[in-house]
Amino acid sequence: MLASNNFFSVRMTNVPVVELGSAIDALTRIIDEYKADDISIIILIDHFFMDSDLVDLRRPWVHIEFINTENEPTTQGLDALVSELKSGPCVHAELIIGIGGGHVLDLAKATSNLWTNEGKASDYQGWNLVKNRGLRKIGVPTISGTGAEATRTCVLTNPDTGIKLGMNSDHSVFDQIILDSALSATVDRSQYFFTGMDTYIHCIESLSGRYRNALADANSEMALSLCREVFKSEDMMSDINRQKLMIASFLGGCAVGGSFVGLIHPLSAGLSVVYKTPHCAGNCIVMTVMDEYYPEAFNEFYEMANCQDVCMPSNPCEKASDEDFSKLFDAVICHEKPLRNALGPDFHKILTREKLRDLYLRRLN
Ligand code: ZN
Repeated sequence: MLASNNFFSVRMTNVPVVELGSAIDALTRIIDEYKADDISIIILIDHFFMDSDLVDLRRPWVHIEFINTENEPTTQGLDALVSELKSGPCVHAELIIGIGGGHVLDLAKATSNLWTNEGKASDYQGWNLVKNRGLRKIGVPTISGTGAEATRTCVLTNPDTGIKLGMNSDHSVFDQIILDSALSATVDRSQYFFTGMDTYIHCIESLSGRYRNALADANSEMALSLCREVFKSEDMMSDINRQKLMIASFLGGCAVGGSFVGLIHPLSAGLSVVYKTPHCAGNCIVMTVMDEYYPEAFNEFYEMANCQDVCMPSNPCEKASDEDFSKLFDAVICHEKPLRNALGPDFHKILTREKLRDLYLRRLN
């Protein structure tokens, strides 16, 4: 059911062009429209695709950069990447294409922003700080769930401050995305499940929050319905299910772009900052102790994990020190908007240091 009385004060920025179909065909067409003496196109590709057909996109005017996605993107990593690209033959670049999961898509968006805005990546973490429109940018997701292809943010961890925060800006929205579910056929099954659950979690957090609106609710409901079809079926990775999940990811990204996440994302961000736990695995670890806050979703989450025979990632907090818990608390409590959305204005009184420690130490499976 849609939230009522909330048809005001909602503003969403959408991706203007969404193309469904073969990514190779679409990118070949786009790339061949350019042709220049200097490098005019930068392509960031997840290193997983180093030996795939995607390298056929190489042209004299195209620079391909393979991105190691073992660790989540950092502000320092982005600063180094932009300075390397700008000091080389890419100085005249007019287009950046990101091909990969949320990591690479966020990196492509953030590179685009830093290309035309002076300073460092950390200067733009926050809300509406990016002044100038960046390089034209195209996103091609190769795994479904993060919604990075749809959102107006690109999330980076700053190891100096211990803050994981996005560049939330209209300038962080892709100019075009290409949705080709064939690209997600080779994803590892567990990874496919954890990443798909990111969409499920975005939507249940948004629908359970205090700051709902009818537009976000409609997107969330549709994305959740697709997630249920996919993860309650026999083969979550069939052709049709990969197509459904790619659409669910996009709609979930639209939902969360027009509302807020809840308690799960801040706790997952804590794991990312302190233990470098990947975002989607972190969400699933946190989900295993959310029976108190999201009881229906908690039960359904386990139903879907059991249906797909997926084991949860191991909890890095089992041997956490007092210092670790202190860092975890700082990395969680700074996420004021989602925590307020989930727990209300008194979230500080509910999510105390002791409560957070209990949650991180519990292990239900
Ligand atoms: Zn997420």
